[in-house]
Amino acid sequence: MPTPCHRLDRGRDEAATIGAASASHTAGACAREAAREVQLARGGSSLGKKLLVAPGSKVRLDRIDPDDTHGFEKAKSDPIVAADLARLRDLQERIWAENKHRLLIVLQGIDTAGKGGTIEHVMGAFNPQGCRVHAFKVPTADELAHDYLWRVHPHVPGRGEISIFDRSHYEQVLVVRVMGLEPKSRWRQHYDEINAFEQLLADDGTTILKFFLLIDRDEQRERLQARIDDPRKRWKFRMGDLDTRKHWDDYLAAFEDALSKCSTDAAPWYVVPANHKWFRNLAVARIVADTLEDLDPQIPPPVEPIPPGLEVE
Ligand code: AMP
Ligand code: MG
Repeated sequence: MPTPCHRLDRGRDEAATIGAASASHTAGACAREAAREVQLARGGSSLGKKLLVAPGSKVRLDRIDPDDTHGFEKAKSDPIVAADLARLRDLQERIWAENKHRLLIVLQGIDTAGKGGTIEHVMGAFNPQGCRVHAFKVPTADELAHDYLWRVHPHVPGRGEISIFDRSHYEQVLVVRVMGLEPKSRWRQHYDEINAFEQLLADDGTTILKFFLLIDRDEQRERLQARIDDPRKRWKFRMGDLDTRKHWDDYLAAFEDALSKCSTDAAPWYVVPANHKWFRNLAVARIVADTLEDLDPQIPPPVEPIPPGLEVE
């Protein structure tokens, strides 16, 4: 039986096997430590399960620790993330080549939660060909003249594509609700509308993953301060970010409702503790890679038969 120390390739049910194997390893702390590391490295599906908002459940964000790293350690995380980024690279190439599946990734979080950083570090693994990022800003006059999904639909992925939303249609139950941009009688209808929209996409073959990046107020204070102090980050700062921060509790309540009402089998939400950027990257990379792997994308066969031994002159 291979020693746990060298089993870094992954497989869904092997964590349990490895746990059993390590029990017979009485060789001491090294073996146990190695087995634990491998279990963590391979515990992708269990990490996804831990962060998933079970459809129908009520989310209490004050009960989720934004510092949590679910047993992973920063010092040991680099090879784990590198392995998942390599999986992402391979899987996206297959998705693109196969031209069959579509993946929509939605990133939400309060200002400075790390939506941009996640795109840079995790989605950086993708070949830009076949991958689209769209950031949803304050709606333009033209966008406001239409229903709120009008500006969203053109950016959903086509076959073979992965689309990443930096903010999304969820702003309609976040900023719109908190800042009173619509009456409650209107925004409270959006949860069902959003679920119906996402169900439509799913029924039509789109896989949807939604990540809420959870940081706490102290972490946001530090990150906003860094944006003010660091000349290279100042472009990201808006005075309005300080107003938004004043509505922290209202935003959390709005996020809780969005997560609770709109985590469905068709379009699940994951709450990612994001005070630690390395863990945020690890968790998102792991869940996206596992999801793509479940789709089992295949490099297609040649479009026409290639005679054996054909050589290009
Ligand atoms: P940023 O992501 O920092 O570039 O900021 C984009 C801004 O656009 C944020 O302040 C969002 O709250 C705002 N925004 C995005 N979607 C909407 C929307 N549907 N209605 C109003 N504001 C929005
Ligand atoms: Mg901003």
